[in-house]
Amino acid sequence: MSWVALAGGVGGAKFARGLVKIAQQQQQTLHIIVNTGDDFSMHGLAISPDIDTMLYTLSGAANPDTGWGIAEDTFAAHNQLAKLGGESWFWLGDRDLATHIMRTQLLRAGRTLTQVTSYLAQRLGVPNHAQILPMTNDPVATELLSNGAWLAFQEYFVKLRHDVPISAVRFQGIESAQITAEVSAAVAAAEILFFCPSNPLVSIEPILATGAMRALLTAKKNIPRVGVSPIIGGKALKGPADRMMTELGAESSALGVARYYRDILDIFVLDSEDAALQSAVEQETGMRVIVADTVMRNEEDSVRLAEYIIQKL
Ligand code: GDP
Repeated sequence: MSWVALAGGVGGAKFARGLVKIAQQQQQTLHIIVNTGDDFSMHGLAISPDIDTMLYTLSGAANPDTGWGIAEDTFAAHNQLAKLGGESWFWLGDRDLATHIMRTQLLRAGRTLTQVTSYLAQRLGVPNHAQILPMTNDPVATELLSNGAWLAFQEYFVKLRHDVPISAVRFQGIESAQITAEVSAAVAAAEILFFCPSNPLVSIEPILATGAMRALLTAKKNIPRVGVSPIIGGKALKGPADRMMTELGAESSALGVARYYRDILDIFVLDSEDAALQSAVEQETGMRVIVADTVMRNEEDSVRLAEYIIQKL
């Protein structure tokens, strides 16, 4: 038996680290299914930004200021690459680079992304009862349509600092991508399903769109399925989720997120700032609402939030 959480990068990892602590106290295994639609290659290296954020956060190595990368990492290699005329718009710290070198070597040696992630988690010190599972071992690439041209996800997100309008999202490769045996076993054994407060459109949606995932989760009606809103007071705490929702025709509010998940979740967690939306969410989506302080400034906040939600289920 286990708990399952669906997650992207920063928002996902912040909530997951709280779940990890409570899962340990309750002697549960936590399987965290992570988006790989942001994965890309840079300097010939395989980079999995959401998996890395999860690895670093759960092993206590994450940079608390940025939410991504390793705390106190240095950028000597990055700066030297820039000096040599290499691409330098995506920041890779020296220690972070070691992760990508190792991942690339192991993938080239024939290991799957799931095996490589499990190996890195062990070496980095992610607690054993937390299993980080890539949503698929197959290549999937999120792309955004902006002014008539399709942009690779990192080009939009990092290179252009998500400062361009978008009109559509697609996940290249999704038609042939399969969920892994590890993901399907975790879902089969799940006693609670969590949707972390991640970007619904580009972090959670690719996971749901992979293989049979959406159908499996939709059919899992006998367990609590709970989502935490990444939108508070109509705004994303970080990143473009609020603007993306508006640009793609959804409402940029916790109600908009709840509508997005209405067919798949039973319980929705609103931030206390959005308590006034409780009855609208309940009436429109049929979900039960939990109101909580969902802003996670540090690990204590994450643990407190996870504990509060679990005790309310
Ligand atoms: P990314 O892949 O790194 O962009 O990360 P995610 O998709 O996992 O998370 C992005 C979302 O996390 C944004 O929409 C933020 O609003 C949300 N987020 C970040 N920190 C918090 C927090 O402390 N509480 C809540 N409720 N949402 C958060």
